[in-house]
Amino acid sequence: MIIEIFGIGCINCERLRKYVQQAVDELGVEAQIVKVEDFEVLIRRGITATPGLAIDGEIRSMGRVPNAEEIKEMIQEAGKECSPRPTSDPAPDAKAIIPKCKCSDTGTMLYSCSGASNVGQIANEAAKSLSSQGMGKFSCLAGVGSHGAGFIASAKKADRIVCLDGCTVKCAQKTLAHAGIEPTVQIVITDLGIKKVHDQLDPTQEEVEHAVRSVQCHL
Ligand code: SF4
Repeated sequence: MIIEIFGIGCINCERLRKYVQQAVDELGVEAQIVKVEDFEVLIRRGITATPGLAIDGEIRSMGRVPNAEEIKEMIQEAGKECSPRPTSDPAPDAKAIIPKCKCSDTGTMLYSCSGASNVGQIANEAAKSLSSQGMGKFSCLAGVGSHGAGFIASAKKADRIVCLDGCTVKCAQKTLAHAGIEPTVQIVITDLGIKKVHDQLDPTQEEVEHAVRSVQCHL
């Protein structure tokens, strides 16, 4: 049995790993526990919220931490469903199972302040990155700010609103609020420990990835 834990190394992923290990130990089953942290793999496997859990290739939970008892039930259920794999059939590769992405169905809209500072641009680049990886649709905050009917209607129809602000002035959040839109997830880049610098508009990849991971942890 292969048990995969999908996540990017946050505290919830670690809690899930401990519960999985506890469930495996208590049941006395033979299982290989695999941590999958590659973001592209998460997307391909349809993990839209972390941490995720899959048993023998089937996603069993996403966006929450089931306790050891629940995981034991999942393992037992998977044991009933699975037929023995022929010995010539190799174990599934963690990077190649079910390459199906459901992210585009989530109705997540992304808004960034895109301010003229390092942190505003980190917010902008993080929103671009999340959008290009299928984690939501990057939409025009200025369109909402201009009270464009189509922009506001799209935001109000969304299942989730992710708002990325560069600093505590929270221009994006305020712009959305003027249109009666409340973010589901609010990220402020300076709250991630990144200092605001006005004349620095080229964020590092590391900073952008930090912001992306922070959004993922909240989805
Ligand atoms: S939230 Fe901060 S960084 Fe973003 S536009 Fe406003 S002042 Fe600039």
